[in-house]
Amino acid sequence: MSKYDNLDPRTLAAQALGWEDPSTGAVVPPVQFATTFTRLPDHGQREYFYARYGSPNAVHAEAVLAELEGAAAALSFASGLAACTAPFHALMQGDHVVCAKPVYHGVIAWLEEFAEARGLEVGYFANGDLDALKAAIIPGRTKIVWLESPANPMWSVIDIAAAAKIVHEGGALLAIDSTCATPVLTKPLELGADIVCHAATKYLGGHSDVLAGMLATREVTDFWRRIEDHRRLAGSTLGAMEAYLLTRGMRTLFLRVERQCANAMKVAEYLAAHPKVARVRYPGLKSDPYHAIAAKQMQGGFGGMLSFEPKGGREEAIRVVTSCKVFKAATSLGGVESLIEHRRTSEGKTKTDTPEALIRISVGIEAAEDLIADLDAALARI
Ligand SMILES: *Cc1c(COP(=O)(O)O)cnc(C)c1O
Repeated sequence: MSKYDNLDPRTLAAQALGWEDPSTGAVVPPVQFATTFTRLPDHGQREYFYARYGSPNAVHAEAVLAELEGAAAALSFASGLAACTAPFHALMQGDHVVCAKPVYHGVIAWLEEFAEARGLEVGYFANGDLDALKAAIIPGRTKIVWLESPANPMWSVIDIAAAAKIVHEGGALLAIDSTCATPVLTKPLELGADIVCHAATKYLGGHSDVLAGMLATREVTDFWRRIEDHRRLAGSTLGAMEAYLLTRGMRTLFLRVERQCANAMKVAEYLAAHPKVARVRYPGLKSDPYHAIAAKQMQGGFGGMLSFEPKGGREEAIRVVTSCKVFKAATSLGGVESLIEHRRTSEGKTKTDTPEALIRISVGIEAAEDLIADLDAALARI
């Protein structure tokens, strides 16, 4: 049970768990750059030993995320993908993994390029299809099922509680990349997931100025300790400055995500009514195939991510992207500034089913009117 049980997550986030410097009363932690820490006079070990094993700023960020996710523990990593792939690194030769498709392309790329070489077997299923998930699990051999919700770049939403039941019946662990839902909108561990993953580079950091990843666990198990061993021995630990920025970002997480959800809804409604737009994918729209499950599972909004396809194809999509001025033509997501990208261009050589005309947008905290006017001018050019 948490020692902060009587406080709302918004309060805990805003105060980074109420941290205060014991000697000066400073309300903001210093950045502790030291890579090594002295032993006690009796040669015993202090809380910190060597920075690759963990350091004060990283431990603070981990404590904040653990609290927001209702987790028993959290670990920070040098990037989102270092966090996503850590559970796979902790598996043994011959283990079987099930991964939803589509999910963030980097996870698929890692599984395709490295899983087999490491003696892992991988099965895929269509994200959102629970029957296909059940069929993909090999009871006794499947160790991890990897999902993302809402999932890049089509924003399918999977019923996490129903998925957890199926995964646990098959004897596997459910890991969810919850980067785009954030702990503001969805609590996967409460819904039955075992491990939740964040590309903290995105919403948790929130300002496009820190590369970081995090995992949080419902229980501290032997497998979780093995993930921690992997991080220490692979050296994918988060640096002090990054951890400091990440904690600072998480203080405004709720405000940012609330505004991003409101802006995204306005942008999605505008696009859905536009005669030159063939399709909008946003779980907040009542017409979206994932709306019902998203409304049940997501609290307070449907996130800041959406995709749309202008009429025409790749060429028209790229023209829209390059015509935007307020939206910046860049990959990534979750920052305060709105970004727009032609997704197939960003996915590079990864094999995906992303439609050629698909444009992914990450909605920031700007005035929604400016965002809509920008898209309006860009769509007028096709
Ligand atoms: C960006 C992203 C990642 C990878 O994070 P990096 O910090 O770029 O390594 C993983 N999952 C999702 C959903 C992402 O958006």
